[in-house]
Amino acid sequence: MSTTTAARPDPAAASSDVVGEAARRRTFAVISHPDAGKSTLTEALALHARVIGQAGAVHGKAGRRGTVSDWMDMERTRGISITSAALQFAHRDTVVNLLDTPGHADFSEDTYRVLTAVDAAVMLVDAAKGLEAQTMKLFAVCRHRGIPVVTVVNKWDRPGRDALALMDEVAERTGLTPTPLTWPVGIAGDFRGVLDRRDGGYRRYTRTAGGATVAPEEHVSAAEAAAREPEAWARALEEVDLLTATAGEHDQELFLSGVTTPVLFASAVSNFGVGALLDVLVDLAPAPAGRPDADGAVRPVDAPFSGFVFKVQSGMDAAHRDRLAYVRICSGVFERGMVVTHAASGRPFTTKYAQHVFGRERESIDVAYPGDVVGLVNASALHVGDTLYAGPPVAFPPLTTFAPEHFAVARSVETAKHKQFRRGIAQLESEGVVQVLRSDRRGDAAPVFAVVGPMQFEVAAHRMAHEFGAPVHLEPLPYGLAMRTDEASVAGITASSGTEVLRRSDGELLALFTTKWVARVVREGKPHLTLEPLVAAQLG
Ligand code: GDP
Repeated sequence: MSTTTAARPDPAAASSDVVGEAARRRTFAVISHPDAGKSTLTEALALHARVIGQAGAVHGKAGRRGTVSDWMDMERTRGISITSAALQFAHRDTVVNLLDTPGHADFSEDTYRVLTAVDAAVMLVDAAKGLEAQTMKLFAVCRHRGIPVVTVVNKWDRPGRDALALMDEVAERTGLTPTPLTWPVGIAGDFRGVLDRRDGGYRRYTRTAGGATVAPEEHVSAAEAAAREPEAWARALEEVDLLTATAGEHDQELFLSGVTTPVLFASAVSNFGVGALLDVLVDLAPAPAGRPDADGAVRPVDAPFSGFVFKVQSGMDAAHRDRLAYVRICSGVFERGMVVTHAASGRPFTTKYAQHVFGRERESIDVAYPGDVVGLVNASALHVGDTLYAGPPVAFPPLTTFAPEHFAVARSVETAKHKQFRRGIAQLESEGVVQVLRSDRRGDAAPVFAVVGPMQFEVAAHRMAHEFGAPVHLEPLPYGLAMRTDEASVAGITASSGTEVLRRSDGELLALFTTKWVARVVREGKPHLTLEPLVAAQLG
């Protein structure tokens, strides 16, 4: 605990305090296919809620992401959707933490890590496009991790699919039973409001210029709705009757156990349905609960402080060469300045510089509770997946790394820059930007970058050149598949052509194969060799 606190807090009071604070927190992420409206929704949520301590932190969308360099520039200039790890705001009496996930499929590993740090997810679906590829992949991660999912059908102000057909699609493709909490009044493209299935009333929306302010919402009784919107209301009622075939009624247990998904209809750009989403998050999404450690024992939220690093980011402020480690708090109270233990090294870690980060704005965090995210500045010892704790030791399970599918040898363009080259690579690796594989044969000057999506190569090369001053040449290798192996199997594997064995920095030996076919021939010809699949990126 902090040595700066003169009087020790009463432990019983502190414990009930932390339980209460955890209970009023909701930590979630939005999963969606690019362009479904994630940034627009984030901005709309922040507009509806009160952004804690940061007026004006949310910037409008400056342009469209396209190329990597665009993305890089965006990272610097654009606010919430790219740079912020977590946006924190208040809604009613609840503190909402919205964790950002990268939009592009090539960064699915980063997204996966963020999803280890949330308690719920909002699946944002474009009304005209339905469930798209990236949405499905991210949904698979939520299912795998047992994260409850709220579905939001967005862009209802534009012509789109039939609402009942969309419910069928959710049921068929996700296996979840949709339980619509609201139902649109007016077809896609003519969004007038929603029938609130919880009270049977009508929430009527009024358009504001460009959705720039919180859209006024009128609560109207069913009888009045029938009088004011006879056709649209009758149609909504008819459809709700038909819903019983594919959809169900909300059941909290079934939602939390991943059997059902509550559904809302919205238009993020007009701010329609955004308030309803915040209410649903507060009323239905789970609060932070005790987290299982690496041995499966649960560390309750009122245990002494613990948390884990789910994201490391550097180069955000070139002038300061800073490096931020984002920690999701799992238990206890975080107080800035407290000395905690870094589980990986057993060493003490002083949390003197703890910050909220909103775009380029920062402010100190003095106290934080389970579910919150703190950014620790210049925490060079902290790597993605590391546990920090106070009191009884705990180590949370390591974060899963995905099976890389693309490989390239990295060489420094300027040989004199070997120091910068080494430092840059160590940094990229500790942030999880790329996996780094090595072998005696290839030597230290030619490590192999292994990635899930090729854009990771571009990000790595860009940062090596611009941030670390060590431009690299990346030479692609012909491999497409990696499996876990062991020392005893190396000779047996590499006797076949189209193979190579390299060691990842976490000690894992990876066997690389040019094709699945080569891997199969090796496995079937030599069944005694150890060859185990890694977690496929399809999961995320
Ligand atoms: P992201 O890639 O998921 O972050 O998507 P954006 O928030 O950038 O939105 C993609 C495009 O869809 C932008 O042009 C938005 O203005 C537009 N958009 C987002 N939400 C809505 C909506 O509710 N209705 C309409 N008509 N357009 C929307």
